[in-house]
Amino acid sequence: MKLSALALLSLAAGTQATHEYRAHHAKRQAPGSPNAPVSTITTAASTAHSSNAGPSAVNPSSTTGTGSAATNKPTPTGPPLYPIPPPQGNVPPLSKITSGMPSVATQPVPTTYKPGASAPIEGAPPLPTAFVFRQADWPPQDTIPDTNSPEVQAWMKELDGIDIPNYKPTVDGSCGGDPAAAADAQNRGWWTCGGWTRDTDVTACPDKYTWGVSFDDGPGFYTQQLLSYLDEKDIKATFFVVGSRVIERPNVLIEEYMGGNEISVHTWSHKHLTSLTNEQIVAELGWTRKAIKDVLGVTPTTMRPPFGDIDDRVRAISLAMGMVPVIWTRTPSAGQFDTNDWKVAGGVVTGIDSFNSFQGILGNASIIDTGFIVLQHDLYDITVELATGYTLNAAQTHNPPFTLKPIGQCMSIPSSDMYRESNTNKTFPAKPVSDDAVSGHNAGGGSSSASLNAAATGTLPGLAVLLSFTIVLVQALF
Ligand SMILES: [Zn+2]
Repeated sequence: MKLSALALLSLAAGTQATHEYRAHHAKRQAPGSPNAPVSTITTAASTAHSSNAGPSAVNPSSTTGTGSAATNKPTPTGPPLYPIPPPQGNVPPLSKITSGMPSVATQPVPTTYKPGASAPIEGAPPLPTAFVFRQADWPPQDTIPDTNSPEVQAWMKELDGIDIPNYKPTVDGSCGGDPAAAADAQNRGWWTCGGWTRDTDVTACPDKYTWGVSFDDGPGFYTQQLLSYLDEKDIKATFFVVGSRVIERPNVLIEEYMGGNEISVHTWSHKHLTSLTNEQIVAELGWTRKAIKDVLGVTPTTMRPPFGDIDDRVRAISLAMGMVPVIWTRTPSAGQFDTNDWKVAGGVVTGIDSFNSFQGILGNASIIDTGFIVLQHDLYDITVELATGYTLNAAQTHNPPFTLKPIGQCMSIPSSDMYRESNTNKTFPAKPVSDDAVSGHNAGGGSSSASLNAAATGTLPGLAVLLSFTIVLVQALF
């Protein structure tokens, strides 16, 4: 069966018929052989993102960073499925990492870098004048910004002439909340319900045993603790930052960026983007982009949708605003490369459960043909301790060891391409599809789906294109 699939693959790669098939169908994310066995541990433990459950950007100013942890006791579970490693550094034993645990003291943020300091990115401007927060300059934190503001109205012009599929916003970004949209998930490339992606999405590092390390929802109270650990181990990561947090802790963002980590947009108030109007999506992305620019002097060319909640409408808006969507890896059987660290902070699972999920991820990562991208968080003390005490070390001491890289690096994207000010690449981010290029555009979005794929052709690593052919063929064969 494999041989015939391969033979068909080479035949079909050059045929218009296959191209058309692919162009009209979103591909289901699958970073390797769709027939590969996949650890049931990860699959069982990691399905929550397809519902409206998921990590939430709790404002640590008002909650100490662990959200409702104190009120939700983790469900008792069986014995650990893997040997529990000794903790690294001052981190508590894994069995003690549960919601409600005492918070560790936060580390002070060093102010190593002054305005005018040279950027770590070739072609990027030096650090701007020190950021001073003035409430009147910003929307209220953790709420969807007003779409009538002059800023949002100006950013809306970036969508002029771009083909934005006119899907109605989903009810709440969950499959169960909007069955009609969920039934149309493949057509609209909705990741939440079925893992549908487009070629323009970044979903997995191409090289096997390479982990694209990322931390979401900060900068938080405990991010500095994580940064110290990363520095000590010479690990760099991608930080998907929330605008409402950036304006609270600009100095932490500076430490992340100047320390050689990558910075990416993760919206202003961490809502499900498919549930928002076009204007609201523009506001969420625009204000976060502006916050990062004001603090660092650079504008990211990538973004991650909260909860991975993206469809063709959200994609088109992101690309129109110059941001490439980055999600995390998902296996063909819906196992996500999600550490579930956010569930520990939320009191739903224990630290041991989360580590079991992570071991499942490493098991899956050993099976698939590509590398992978993992969802982790730096907003909570618990999630930082799981990373610094356990997961990062487990990957490095694994046999064979995993190579840890920020996502841009693992994708071989030059660091200068990661920011608008230093980017000289004309094809990254991929140009969004203009209205003129679309004939017979309709409300169903079929033509825009095709256009989005067409726009991506030639701008992505050959591996991704080959992979999508493989998936289409295997879907057709089995
Ligand atoms: Zn998030």
